Amino acid sequence: MDSPKQCFNCKTEETQIPLIVLSYNSQELHICPRCMPAIIHQTETITGNLPQK
Ligand SMILES: [Zn+2]
Repeated sequence: MDSPKQCFNCKTEETQIPLIVLSYNSQELHICPRCMPAIIHQTETITGNLPQK
């Protein structure tokens, strides 16, 4: 891997915080524990930050 994985929402890198792997649109995404409540409770808001393909 070239660059460290980062939270898709807040861009915190895996070198700073453990990341959780998500699957979305056949892609692998990573999210940090701090952003988990947001994706649980504000799914519509957070999907605006998701890379669309
Ligand atoms: Zn985050």
